[in-house]
Amino acid sequence: MHSSENSAVNYIVRFWCGENANRVKYVSAPPEKTEKAVYILRSAFFDEGVYGTADSIPSVPLKMLNGIPILFGNPTVEFRRSCVVIQADLIASAYFLISRYEEYIRPDTVDRYGRFPGRESLPFKGGFVERPVVDEYGILINRFLKQLGYPVEPVGKGEIYLTHDIDTPWKQFTFFSACKRVAADFFRNGKLKFYPFRVKKGDIEKDPLYTFPQLIRADGKLPEAKVIYFIKGNGHKRPEDAKPYINSPLFSKLLSLLLDSGARVGYHISYRAGCDPRLIPDELAQVEKVCGVKITQARNHYLASKRPADFLALLNAGVREDFTMGYADVPGFRLGTSKSIRWINPQNRELTDLLLHPLLIMDVTLTGGKYLRLDRNEMIKLGDTVLGNALAVGGDICLLWHNNDFQMSAGNLKWMLYAHFLTTVRENSNASDKKI
Ligand SMILES: [Zn+2]
Repeated sequence: MHSSENSAVNYIVRFWCGENANRVKYVSAPPEKTEKAVYILRSAFFDEGVYGTADSIPSVPLKMLNGIPILFGNPTVEFRRSCVVIQADLIASAYFLISRYEEYIRPDTVDRYGRFPGRESLPFKGGFVERPVVDEYGILINRFLKQLGYPVEPVGKGEIYLTHDIDTPWKQFTFFSACKRVAADFFRNGKLKFYPFRVKKGDIEKDPLYTFPQLIRADGKLPEAKVIYFIKGNGHKRPEDAKPYINSPLFSKLLSLLLDSGARVGYHISYRAGCDPRLIPDELAQVEKVCGVKITQARNHYLASKRPADFLALLNAGVREDFTMGYADVPGFRLGTSKSIRWINPQNRELTDLLLHPLLIMDVTLTGGKYLRLDRNEMIKLGDTVLGNALAVGGDICLLWHNNDFQMSAGNLKWMLYAHFLTTVRENSNASDKKI
């Protein structure tokens, strides 16, 4: 066994079973003399010569255990007199998913922004990206522990994170660009609107991008939710990074509005710093200075995280929670779980102190047209499926809705979807207190 593998394996079992973790044994062969416990049989996944090679990636279709896809081992469970032996290697299966192991094995499988495409992932190809299967494994193991007579806690209720990345809070007009906008609006709508000049003078609330009061009102309907606005670092790589805004004297007006609403601020890593993670500490320090608070939460612009370099740089800079782990091209469970989980570095198998919050749905994944081509009803159905699956296992909900794309979608589609998903969460978040 690799030296750091033990703590990662123990962590996964504790993640599922808490106090009952010592009732779950990870063994190489079926036990001769058994304790009253659940035994999980090891596959070859962690073995030298297998781990880290292309041979360690399972092929689809995957085998199913009680209706749940498993990545390694056989879909068989033996019920003996005093124990349960699971021949599916649920630990390696969970490890594979939560560490994003396949992204480490396939570093060249990236889109033009350097991101691993969800469509290339095993969960997508295996047809289970919309299911938090790691949480389903946990429920199954707990059910077996209960059958053995151990007390098991019912599935609880997770946290709700409503998050907003601020890429462009308002347009920073020059005299020339203000004239251009007025002319463009006139030719499009036949109406003369002079708001660009008012925005230029400091009336940033007049900008259609400035949807923060609406977001605050919408988020207020879920008072138990944690609301986070990710403030963009100063990195400026065109065209992915819009013009930096934190040093504008007008930013303090927006910051007060956000903080007064009870929201927290996090650090939105610029695309430039995403490309060169050595820039992360300085960028973070500037955002902290302007915001006047210590920041421990972060997310990459474009979700363009270069792991493990980004995660290591975040840890070194004092960040303790990352919210980047969703796919840009498909909604669902990039980490295989709906619950926040510590990052295991697949390079050295080390359990780190960085807590990853799974991102379930990003607005532009549904509405951007770049990734999915769905009609309104299909968007609602897909989003509700993902949210429902997270709520059913007592998981966390994390949504990402930008302030600045609302005017780009016809008929305020993004607003409609956001309001709908908030209602889905509000109406179903108490329904998960069910028994195992
Ligand atoms: Zn962004």
